[in-house]
Amino acid sequence: MNKVLQLGSEYFSSQFGGAPDGLWSAPGRVNLIGEHTDYNGGFAFPIAIDKRTTVAARARADRLLRVASSSFPGVVEVSLDDLDPDALAGWAAYPLGVAWAIAGGASGSAASRMSGVDLALTSDVPAGAGLSSSAAVECAVALALNDLWELGLDRQELARIGQLAENRVVGAPTGIMDQSASLLGETDHGILLDCQSLLTETVALGFAGAGVGLLVIDTRTSHSHADGGYASRRRSCEDGARRLGVGSLRALRPDDLPRAAAQLDGQTYRRVRHIITENQRVLDTVAALRTSGPGAIGPFLDESHLSMRDDFEISTPELDLAVASAQELGALGARMTGGGFGGAALALVRNDDARKVAAGITRDFARARYTAPHIFPVTASEGARREL
Ligand code: ADP
Ligand code: MG
Repeated sequence: MNKVLQLGSEYFSSQFGGAPDGLWSAPGRVNLIGEHTDYNGGFAFPIAIDKRTTVAARARADRLLRVASSSFPGVVEVSLDDLDPDALAGWAAYPLGVAWAIAGGASGSAASRMSGVDLALTSDVPAGAGLSSSAAVECAVALALNDLWELGLDRQELARIGQLAENRVVGAPTGIMDQSASLLGETDHGILLDCQSLLTETVALGFAGAGVGLLVIDTRTSHSHADGGYASRRRSCEDGARRLGVGSLRALRPDDLPRAAAQLDGQTYRRVRHIITENQRVLDTVAALRTSGPGAIGPFLDESHLSMRDDFEISTPELDLAVASAQELGALGARMTGGGFGGAALALVRNDDARKVAAGITRDFARARYTAPHIFPVTASEGARREL
C-alpha cells in the first residue's frame, strides 16, 4: 500500500476503529482555459491534477452516515433518513450533500441497498486555492457510495450528483466543469467539455514529450464561489443572453459581437464578449494542440487572461502580477485560473525554466509587498478511481 493510502486507512481507523471496506480517491483540477463558460453552455478545457482527496469508507449495518476529515476537527453524523439540504453546513455539507443528492434520485431496489456508511477524508488538495478541493471531495465520495451501494451510476451521472450537492447544499452556483475534470481526467490529457451537450473528449496535451509543464501560482488570497462576484457574473451572462434572444451565450459566435455591442449596455457587452471569445479560445487551443503541439497554445492563455482582467473583471492585482511576471520570465503563456477574485494563476513553462520562473515571481511578489505565493508544478493525472 502506498503512503497516501496507508495514511488514509490509518486515519479511518483512528476515527472509526477497524479497517475500511475500501479506499477511493479523486483529484483536484486546474482549468487550462475556458473560464466561466460552463454555466453558459460553452467549452472548457481542464485537467485533473496530481493532488488528490482520498476517502476510506465502510458500510454500516444501520442508517447512520458518519464523516470525518483530517482537515477539520470532529465527526459529523446524520441518519440517511434525516438528510436535509438546508440543514447541512460547514465542510460536512460536501460529503453529506453528495449522499443527499444520490439518495434523492434513487428509488426501489437501489434505495434499499443504501445503508449507513463511515467516511474518512484525507487530502493534499489545497482548499480555496482554485484547484477545486470541493469537487475532489464530492467525486471521491460519490464514487465510494456508488460502489458501496452498487448503484452502477456512470461518471457523467456522478459529475451531476457532485454539482447538485454543490449547488443545492453548499449554495455555490457552479457549473459541471470541476466534477467532470475530477472524474474524467487522464495522464497528460486535458478534458474538452461541451457544457451544452455534456459531451466530453480527452485531448492529448503532449506536455511530457515537449518538455513543458504547468506551474500553479497560488496567490493565497481568498475567494469564495458562493459570494457576490461569481453570482453577479452569472446574472450578467443570463441577462445578456435574454436580451440577445438566445437560450445561452453558447449560441453566439465572434461574428455576433457587433450585434451584441449595438444591443447591450457597455458592461453587459464586455461580460458577453468574454464568454464568446473564451469559447473560441478553448476551441483554438485544442486545435493548436492537435496540429502544432503545446508550444503553440501560449498566446490563447495570455489572451484569456486579458479578457478576464478587462472584460469579465474577475482578476486581482496579485493574479495580474503573477501572470505578467511569468510572461516576462519566459513562460509560454499564463493566465489566472478558476472563478477569480483571488486564488491561483497558471503558467505554461519549459521544464528547464520552471525554477527561474518560480523564483522570479516570488521575488516580484516580495517587491510588491504581497503575501508570498505558493508555487508548485502540476501534471495532468488520472481521474477518480477506486484504490483498494
Ligand atoms: P476550492 O474548491 O476552490 O478549493 P471551495 O470554497 O469551493 O474552494 O471549497 C473548499 C471547501 O471544501 C472547504 O472549505 C471545505 O469545506 C471543503 N473541503 C475541501 N477539502 C476538504 C477535505 N479534505 N475535507 C473536508 N472538506 C473539504
Ligand atoms: Mg470549489
